Formats: sequence, structure tokens, C-alpha cells
Amino acid sequence: MMDSYDGATAVSQREESPMMGEELAAVLFHQHPQPMWICDHETLAIRAVNESAIEHYGYSREEFLQLTLRDLAVGQQDNDEALDRLSSAVSVHRWRSRHRRKDGMIITVEMTARPLNFAGRGALIVMAQDITDRVKAEEALRRNEERYRQIVETAQEGIWVIEAEARTWYVNERMAEMLGYSRQEMLGRPLYDFLDEAAQVRARQNVEKKFEGVTKHGDFRFRRRDGSVLWAIVSVKPLYNDAGQYIGALGMIVDVTERRQLERQLQQAQKMEAIGRLAGGVAHDFNNLITVITGYSDLLLRSLEETSPLRRIIEEMKRAGERAALLTRQLLAFSRNQPIEPRLLDPNGVIIDMEKMLRRLIGEDIELITILRPDIGSVRADPGQLQQVLINLVVNARDAMPDGGTLTIETDRVELDAEYVARRLNVRPGPYVVLSVSDTGCGMDPETLSHIFEPFFTTKGERGTGLGLATVYGIVTQCGGYVDVMSEVGRGTTFKIYLPRIIPPRDEQVTAAPSRCACGGTETILVAEDEPLVRELIREVLQRKGYTVLEASNGVEALLAARRHPGPIHLLLTDVVMPLMSGTELAAQLQRERPGTKVLFMSGHTSRAGRSLALLESPAMFLTKPFTPEALAARVRLILDASDE
Ligand code: ADP
Ligand code: MG
Repeated sequence: MMDSYDGATAVSQREESPMMGEELAAVLFHQHPQPMWICDHETLAIRAVNESAIEHYGYSREEFLQLTLRDLAVGQQDNDEALDRLSSAVSVHRWRSRHRRKDGMIITVEMTARPLNFAGRGALIVMAQDITDRVKAEEALRRNEERYRQIVETAQEGIWVIEAEARTWYVNERMAEMLGYSRQEMLGRPLYDFLDEAAQVRARQNVEKKFEGVTKHGDFRFRRRDGSVLWAIVSVKPLYNDAGQYIGALGMIVDVTERRQLERQLQQAQKMEAIGRLAGGVAHDFNNLITVITGYSDLLLRSLEETSPLRRIIEEMKRAGERAALLTRQLLAFSRNQPIEPRLLDPNGVIIDMEKMLRRLIGEDIELITILRPDIGSVRADPGQLQQVLINLVVNARDAMPDGGTLTIETDRVELDAEYVARRLNVRPGPYVVLSVSDTGCGMDPETLSHIFEPFFTTKGERGTGLGLATVYGIVTQCGGYVDVMSEVGRGTTFKIYLPRIIPPRDEQVTAAPSRCACGGTETILVAEDEPLVRELIREVLQRKGYTVLEASNGVEALLAARRHPGPIHLLLTDVVMPLMSGTELAAQLQRERPGTKVLFMSGHTSRAGRSLALLESPAMFLTKPFTPEALAARVRLILDASDE
């Protein structure tokens, strides 16, 4: 009966006759764009259906009238319950349901039902709103968000969202982990709490200008919970709400601490290398000059009467030369070009030998504690150099504790693995002996720390030379080791010296030092030295001792001189580094031509050739410049007297 109305008449009649309410309702029912039904209140049997429902569900009106509301629903628990409650509903009732259309497609609908009287019986007017698309879109959105959330949570970069006032609104797990906090601890706290001072200034400026035009920061320094610095690269993006207002910023943070540290080590190593080359070059030339000065002073002194008034002057000259030689040696030690006589050493033994002397050195106010691990093994080093290292460190520790304190010398052994070594430049994995010197003194700030190994860097004004640690660095590096420093202002300093631990071959033994006897001889000695002053000095010394001397200024000349000389040549005394032909090549060639000729090398500069000689052969075969006439004569005699093996 409702079918006889149509919308147009209903609207035109409404104004003339307000009594047409029921008809109007019928029109609204039928023309309503959403599916509507009228059902029996108890059985839920459909008693009327509108056009939209027919169109939307695909059932004809006749088919609908055979169905109940339950038949539309795809059976599911909560839907059934909702429908059960309908029969007792007295007011508007809403629920969500899933319906099957005639073509089998399942749609999600939001249902509204309200009781009413229909043809004198209790009925329900029910309306369905198809929300399938909306639900799908929502689900897709949720899935997307979940995916994004997972990316953010598990990202290798730190992610940090701050509010407009720079309070932390979100951080991901990685970010919290980088800084050593839990996420909970960071939430709500201002960004500035986690930055070092310079970064705070930058961050405040950026927050003030709402991050406009800010995209990336290199060297951004965060402060970790333990106070250490986290170097990071930060990418930032300001955030706006729908109204376009600034509401905060999002940052992506990449940890580059390790990379920075390696870069710094590299810079430091390059700087030291350059200074070392410079110092080494100068010292090398100086060596020859000093050998001449002290050598000739010595010769002069010998030829002068005991009473000569010139003696004092020449002695003064010789002393100046010796002081210069000492300085040169220090520079060479730093530049790692000091000629060394390495041996297998027990570092504990060296420390025990020095303990008395060290105690005197540090005075009464400082307590000295030594903790020596017994089974640390050996290192290969020059004993004098190792003593030098200890003295320099101990003197520095003393200087750092003017009001007394505790000085601890400790030995230990460690195995450096590949992972540890990867974080350090120029350190090889393997077994090491560690020698630590700790004090409870004034400590150093980071700025001072970054310069301490430079030669002539000192904070002690006139009292300091700035050569102590430079020497330590040079010696330790030359031994294949490295130095580690930890220091905190006001709390003290620890220097750790790592030296490769040596497992000695069974037949190795330490060669005895040359004897002090400086007697001469009558043998023939071929001298090859490119520096004329040094060559002349050597000739003078050897001739005075009674030897026959053949001279040459390079290897080729030396070979020619040998071929021209009819008699035997007992010893070749040769510089290692010479133009045209190296001392080692000369020695090899000469020994081929005159087997049995003995060889003594000399050098002030451990070039590659010199160093390998010094390490591999007996130290007796290697004489280091500058040397005194006695040392030269003694060493020559020693070699000549040594029995052939
Ligand atoms: P010098 O002792 O002549 O100043 P060094 O090369 O031995 O030269 O040391 C360089 C600088 O390193 C010192 O001036 C000092 O500032 C710092 N330093 C070295 N060792 C320590 C230490 N144990 N405690 C505090 N500062 C130290
Ligand atoms: Mg010093």
C-alpha cells in the first residue's frame, strides 16, 4: 500500500497539508538512499523493504519478504547477540554486522534499528549503512601504519620526534640505546638534556626558527648517559599540523662516533709522521756534524800537554758536542730513527732494577706502588729505551702531583683481538705486554690530551721541554707497540704502553756488550763513508791506533780500492746509507771477492736496511753514530778478534 506514493507528490502536498505525515514517512522510507527495512519486532521477519535495499542487495521485494533480518547476516556470534537484543529493544539500537548480498559478496554494514508501530503491530525500522569501503580503507591505513611503526622501531638510525618546545615526544629503541637510556626515561625531557654544549646552542637556534631551512647537521654531538660523547649526523624535518602550524620536528640520527675516532687517530698519526720525518732529517745531518766536533775535540785533547791552557776550551767544546748528541738522540728516538740495540727483555726485571732510582726521583710525598704480574713474558726492546720510557712517564706523574699522591706501576698481558684492533689505527692483533703508569694527579683536559705527544708541547713553561712524551711515543712505536692515555681533570692519568709479547726462540741469547778495552792493531781496514769529515776523522783515529787505512767515499770506489790493493783487507768499515751502492751491497760484493773479510756497519739513521741489520744480525756488527774514538777502536778490535763461525 505504501507503494502508491511517490516523492514528488509528497513534497508538493506537504506545505498544504501538515496532516500528510504518514504518507511523507512512506515516501522518505522508499526514496531513502540507504537500505531500510521494516521487520517484525519478535521474529525479525522482513515486512517492508525500500528501493535502495533492493538495489543494494540484489534481492527482489518478493524475495526480501521471505527473509528475516537474521538471514541477511553472515553468521557470527556478536551479530546474533545484537539481533537477540533487538527483540527487547525499546529505543534506538546500533550495531555492526556483515551481510551477504544475493551475488554472494560480503559487505560490512552499520545497522540502526528503532522500534515503531507498524500496521498495529510491534515492529522495527532498520537502516543499513554500507561501510565496506571505509573499513577496507581503515584497515589498509592500519596495516600501513603498523608497517611504518615497525620500520621506525627497528631502524638502524635513531629516530627522535620533539614537540614545538623541544620536549621529547617519541624516540625509537635504537636512539635510546645509542644514548644509554631507556625510552621511558627520555620521553617528555627536553632535547637539550641530551646534547653537549655546542650542540645545545645550535639546537636552541633551530627550535627558535622552527627548523626552517634546516635539513642536515654533520658533527652533532650528543651526550650519553655515562657522559661520553656520541658523534652523529642528524637529518631534520619540521612537522606541521593540518592548519599548517609548526608542531615540532623529526630527526634521523646516524652514529658516526667510531668513524670520527678513526679519522682523528689518522690525523694524529699523520701529524706525528710529518713531525717525525722533519726531526729525523735534521737529526741525521746533525749526527755527522757532531761526530766530527766531538771526535776532533777528543783527538786534540789527546795531543795537548796536560798543562796546556787550551785544554779547558776544548773540553768545553767537547761537552757542548756531547750535549748536542744527547738532544739529537732524543729527536731520533721520537722520529723512530734512533739506532737501537733491541734484545729480549723481561719488563718486570727492568722495573725492579729501576725501582730504587724511581723512588728517589718522585720524592717522599708520593707513594709508589708496583703491581707486577709474574708471567707476562718478554718484549723485544732496547733496555736503555725502555728505561727512558718509564722515567719520562714517572717524571710526568710526579709533576702532576705537586702535593703528593699515589703512583702505580703495573704490568699485565693481554690478547688484542681483531674486533678491538678494528677500532684502532696501526695496531695489530695478538699478544701484548701492558705497562701502565697511573697517577692521582691533576689530569688533563681533552685539548691538552690532543697535543701531548707533539715534540716541544709543554704546559710547564720554562721547566718543561715537551720532549718526554714525544720520546715515549717514538720509542714505543719503533718497538711495534702503541700508547693509550686515559685522563680526567682533577682525577689523575693513566698511560698504558702496549708492547708486542715475544715468545723467544730457544737458541736465542743476548749478545754481550763490547768490552771497554780500546787497543789498536796493525791490520788493514777499508773505510767507506760518503761524509768527508766523518771519513777523515775515522782515518785519523784508526791510523793513530796503528791500522792501515784505505779510504773510499762510496761503494764503487771501495770495490775499486780493494781490487787495487795487493795485500789482505781484514775489515770493511762502511756506512749503511751511501749514494750509488748501499753498505750492505758493498759488503756482500766484497765478501764474494775477498771471502773472510769482516764487516762493521755504521749509521746514525736506522734506515730500513740499517734497522733490519740491527735486528737480525749480531749487534756487534753495527756501530751507531755518533760514536767516540774509543768506541770505534774498541768495536773494530772486537770484530777483528772475533773467531769466524
Ligand atoms: P714536559 O713534561 O716537558 O712538559 P712531556 O712531553 O713529558 O713534556 O709532557 C707534555 C705535557 O703533557 C706536559 O706538559 C703535561 O701538560 C702533560 N702531561 C704529561 N703527563 C701528564 C700527567 N701524568 N698528568 C698530567 N699531565 C701530563
Ligand atoms: Mg715530561
